[in-house]
Amino acid sequence: MTDTIDNIPPAVDPATAPVAKQSTEVGSVFVSNYPAYSFWSEEAVPEAHRALNRPGERHNPLGLYLHIPFCRKRCKFCYFKVYTGKNSDEIQIYLDALARELDTYGKLPAVQQRPLKFVYFGGGTPSFISVKHLKWLVEKAREALPWDGVEEVAFECEPGTLSQSKLAAIKDIGVTRLSLGIEHFNDDILRENGRAHVSKEIYRIQSWVKEMGFEQLNIDLIAGMVGDTRESWEDTVQRAIDYDPDSITIYQLELPYNAVYSRHLREGEKIPVADWKTKQAWHSYAIDQLLAAGYEVSSAYTMIKKDSPNKKFVYRDALWHGSDMLATGVASFGHMSGVHFQNAGRWDAYLEGANAGRLPIQRAFATNRREQLIREMILQLKLGRIEPGYFQDKFSVNILNDFSEAFERLEKAGQLRLAEGEITLTREGLLQVDQLLPQFYEPKYRNARYT
Ligand code: SF4
Repeated sequence: MTDTIDNIPPAVDPATAPVAKQSTEVGSVFVSNYPAYSFWSEEAVPEAHRALNRPGERHNPLGLYLHIPFCRKRCKFCYFKVYTGKNSDEIQIYLDALARELDTYGKLPAVQQRPLKFVYFGGGTPSFISVKHLKWLVEKAREALPWDGVEEVAFECEPGTLSQSKLAAIKDIGVTRLSLGIEHFNDDILRENGRAHVSKEIYRIQSWVKEMGFEQLNIDLIAGMVGDTRESWEDTVQRAIDYDPDSITIYQLELPYNAVYSRHLREGEKIPVADWKTKQAWHSYAIDQLLAAGYEVSSAYTMIKKDSPNKKFVYRDALWHGSDMLATGVASFGHMSGVHFQNAGRWDAYLEGANAGRLPIQRAFATNRREQLIREMILQLKLGRIEPGYFQDKFSVNILNDFSEAFERLEKAGQLRLAEGEITLTREGLLQVDQLLPQFYEPKYRNARYT
């Protein structure tokens, strides 16, 4: 969830192409917002400040995102701007700025009288920082924005950064949803893709994680990492099931423009990357195995245990239903009363703004009601199921009429089913949902750079 450099336009006209791209080309496919980040501008930053400086919409849930941009090593498929060489003093300098930014947020009218519904520690690698730093940050955050009533505190981890004492500290600060970035269980594939951890580290923490009793344990996997084969993927899916998490989230490898692999490809290097059909077939295989193992579909990416006492993913569901979110940390993204905004993406600019007591917002976009409707509709489609009645009630729009062309095209292509009261994606639609969503975009936002 950080900024990227520029990106290239999609190779396929998204308005008329219900079929997945074949080869994995360089460029972002994953849709996390609307309109695309490339439409956000510096000129719109005052709109973000205005939204934050007037009373917020109290009926709308509010969340907090804390961005920890440090990693042990840069993965070759990663497009986030992460820092791999920062020492403890530099991390403290960053956390000081983060604490100052939290303090600034705590005093804003948009935040007053609004309890936080969720807190999300993302990165980068939140589990990279020390126990001392983590406890200090949480103390400062809770002074600025008390979160006693939150429904969920989510925390992303890289397995090799966890010790028993660090896991205890993570539990101690109130984390309810622990998410492990495992990605694959095969050491050769992990090494080839530049991951910092190996499988030994994944298994070393398994019993500690279980003993600590987090409400939810999620693990992330990526289908189609460089070097992956049908055999190695099947083995990874089996190991993931044996690991026994509450949920398993599966992404299909993409090659954002500024990832290391993408640069190598542009320089003419041959890198074997599975095509989309192959990745979808592998993802589909995983869904079948997980269904058989007692999981059910929670979204296009996540399978959750049917008998899990807590199946909610508050952060995801709140964001996909238009919640407000305070974004803290370098390059992080937020949303307030219909205005998207992003913090400065450069270390120095972020520190300077935050330490001066200014919100270090670098670009923004004020959405109108139509854009808000489309944003929620495409994001909720990622759940695999949407209810037209929700959009009628919230936006007074009959989406079946307004988007009939796109819905019918997808239905004809076997990617979606239209029924009274709900629209559901088929398995085929679910497996390539991000490539289908641009069909719902307004024409001016199609064929654009992603970031
Ligand atoms: S651990 Fe995550 S954020 Fe860090 S480099 Fe790898 S993919 Fe990027």
